[in-house]
Amino acid sequence: MITNIPTYDDFEKVSKECLIQALELFFRIYSSYKEYNDENIYEEVPLNEIWEHNKPTLRTSVILLHQGIETYMKSVIVKNSPYLLLEQKRAEWPTLPESKDVDYASMYTFAGENLLHTFCAVSSDKLTSDKVKFIETIRQNRNKAIHGAGNILSDPKIIIQDILRAYTYFFGKDHWFNDIRKWNQSNPLFGYYDWGFESTLSYKFLDFLEITIGIKQLQKYFSFDISGRRYLCPTCLYEISSKDDQLLSKWAFLIPNTPTSNKIFCINCDFESEIERVHCKIENCKGNVIDMSGICLTCGEKQLS
Ligand SMILES: [Zn+2]
Ligand SMILES: [Zn+2]
Repeated sequence: MITNIPTYDDFEKVSKECLIQALELFFRIYSSYKEYNDENIYEEVPLNEIWEHNKPTLRTSVILLHQGIETYMKSVIVKNSPYLLLEQKRAEWPTLPESKDVDYASMYTFAGENLLHTFCAVSSDKLTSDKVKFIETIRQNRNKAIHGAGNILSDPKIIIQDILRAYTYFFGKDHWFNDIRKWNQSNPLFGYYDWGFESTLSYKFLDFLEITIGIKQLQKYFSFDISGRRYLCPTCLYEISSKDDQLLSKWAFLIPNTPTSNKIFCINCDFESEIERVHCKIENCKGNVIDMSGICLTCGEKQLS
């Protein structure tokens, strides 16, 4: 008998983990650079020099991205039948009553072209030629990264976009960010300092993506419209300032995006807040979105009556 047959969920979970880790590798490099918080250092050592130095990590990310995609294809195939993945001749399968038990993991499974063809055959989604071309490009990029050929590692922007594109293609918009938050919150150390404060820190991930790929690209992976004017979020602001930290990032947007709207939604904490439409009294601030405690969500200053 063939034992320990994997399930669809096993593969899907590993696929998501590979893609999240591929992105996390970039985020960690960026975060440790940001920790210096010193304009002189940033002038002398621009971010692209940091990416250049970290090419071995970027290479790992490309391999993880490819692995995540292969594992996703396997999950779809396994959903139909785990036997479709087996490469060995059927006559050699240990399935007759007298055969010895063989662990599924010790058998050969399809990879590369055979995997892609089987995936296309069983996929219930309408597979566009764009999607198939994308999968093939990633396979070639992974080969280039391993062989040290081509220049795939010299543009982190492309790799980051490819990871987000893969996640969105397979699991839908927004899922990558929700899953990253869930992943961080499942860390056994999460919450020991302060649950609310630590949950809010995911804004740093959004900042990192804005710096590396830009808002226009980032929009492709969010269902919420993030092209409008941006405001500080009262909920995030409260959490961050409760620990004497300063929040400068604006990830909240008016809903609906109209001059009379009195609600904002934050894509970082996923909360809606009520706001007032009054002109900010701070000099040179043109803001007119004030939270219920009197803080201007444009400049972050408290309105003094
Ligand atoms: Zn928020
Ligand atoms: Zn203001």
